Amino acid sequence: MRKPGRHFLQIPGPSTVPDRVLRAIDFQTMDHRSPEFGELGLRTLEGMKTIFGTTGDVIIYPASGTGAWEAALVNTLSPGDRVLMCETGQFAWLWQRLAKRLGLEPEIIETDWRQAADVAGIEARLRADTAHEIKAVCVVHNETSTGCTSDIAAVRAAITAAGHPALLMVDTISSLGSVEYRHDDWGVDVTVGGSQKGLMLPPGLSFNAVSEKAKAASEEARLPKSFWDWGEMIAANKTGYFPYTPATNMLYGLVEALDMLHEEGLEAVYARHKRHGAATRLAVETWGLEVLCRVPEHVSPVLTAVMVPEGHSADGLRRIIHTELNMSLGNGLGRLQDRVFRIGHLGDFNDLTLLGALSGIEIGLSRAGIPHNRGGVQAAIDYLTARPDEQLVHRAA
Ligand SMILES: *Cc1c(COP(=O)(O)O)cnc(C)c1O
Repeated sequence: MRKPGRHFLQIPGPSTVPDRVLRAIDFQTMDHRSPEFGELGLRTLEGMKTIFGTTGDVIIYPASGTGAWEAALVNTLSPGDRVLMCETGQFAWLWQRLAKRLGLEPEIIETDWRQAADVAGIEARLRADTAHEIKAVCVVHNETSTGCTSDIAAVRAAITAAGHPALLMVDTISSLGSVEYRHDDWGVDVTVGGSQKGLMLPPGLSFNAVSEKAKAASEEARLPKSFWDWGEMIAANKTGYFPYTPATNMLYGLVEALDMLHEEGLEAVYARHKRHGAATRLAVETWGLEVLCRVPEHVSPVLTAVMVPEGHSADGLRRIIHTELNMSLGNGLGRLQDRVFRIGHLGDFNDLTLLGALSGIEIGLSRAGIPHNRGGVQAAIDYLTARPDEQLVHRAA
């Protein structure tokens, strides 16, 4: 049945793809060995460095984020290597399962899935590892299952304070292009990214940004790899080419998305996400519902996970909102299934997108019979009215 109007895709990735990016992709695929292609390759590889905040190598895979997770591990580690992983939620758990399947030995620092990575716990564990058996520390920057964001600079400082040589690997699949990130300044060795969340592209590309230390580790690493091998990639990338067929049309889109991010300005993009996160949480609090992330310093600018009261179904609410209001919200993942719904406020997103999404939720809460106070949308309107987006006001002047 036809559903008139635009579908509200308010899951925390894939996010809505702007028309400019869709138009950019809609061109005939080119010969990826042609002289023209090299230029496109170099533009995307160089452009991605500005988003990661690195002058080092960036690798682009024709794969979802999970592939780039695997690439980070197989390029730097050997069978049986110990890796310290922070289980901040479902995505951290999946990365840890992947590590186990590859023959690594993950050691887990757990949380209650309502806060960011335990930095003190990382430091304590590294200090105790006097034999330096731990080869890597893996942290998810923005845990998309819980809506908590970890402080990567603090994790780096903890590793340094412990005097430990482990590599630092960070998953930025849902934060890259929406939350401030500095691969070089924060001393990250491998950063993993994906196309379909903050970068405003369809699913299908993923990335590794790699430090010199990570490249040195890759010379010694003994886990089997072929498709994911950095060595062949980096060699071919020097002239803008790839060892196998790249996702050419996605790269057209990537050039456009990078232009859009820089036209707005990365600082403005990050501020916009924070502002929309704050307005969303204010609406949730006004409804009398609880935000899953319980540490104010850890709240995500990209998504908000909302707990439904005991005895009510988050999936039932999502179903009503999907069927009757034509909006998709994120579901509760893993142990959070049916307990939370997740509001994505990332990517190509503005005040009215947010107010539309919040209105849909407020209507849905009533129709689903979930007890709540009215006025969440009004609270968000008041917040956004009192704090206009400085960038937009400046441009209008
Ligand atoms: C979406 C996501 C992934 C998984 O990426 P896929 O593209 O689905 O493979 C991993 N980590 C985080 C933090 C994510 O948000």
